[in-house]
Amino acid sequence: MRKYKLKIPKTRRTFCKFCKTQTTHAVALAKKKERGTLRIGSIARLSKRGSAKTGFGNHGKFSRKALSAWKRMGAKTSKKSDFRLKCSVCNKTQVRSSGKRTKKLSIEDKAV
Ligand SMILES: [Zn+2]
Repeated sequence: MRKYKLKIPKTRRTFCKFCKTQTTHAVALAKKKERGTLRIGSIARLSKRGSAKTGFGNHGKFSRKALSAWKRMGAKTSKKSDFRLKCSVCNKTQVRSSGKRTKKLSIEDKAV
């Protein structure tokens, strides 16, 4: 098991999709956003479950309990984190996933 923090350098040379070349980027953590309720799936689910007009019969995938009741939700203790990469040339940002799971993470000055 890894005991140490994953250290991420503050700047990284990587591809900028706006400049179409490799440029230096400033690295920061992207904040995770809470999922809103007004999505297509949520609206469909609400209209199926919430409305009293159909009190019988199978509602398909909307008949299930909450996902956490029957699926192994939250089994993993680590999380993949997203980074905000800000291009030093065009000042535009792009969000990219780290692709690796870590419990602890720190963004540091020195390039590792
Ligand atoms: Zn750029």
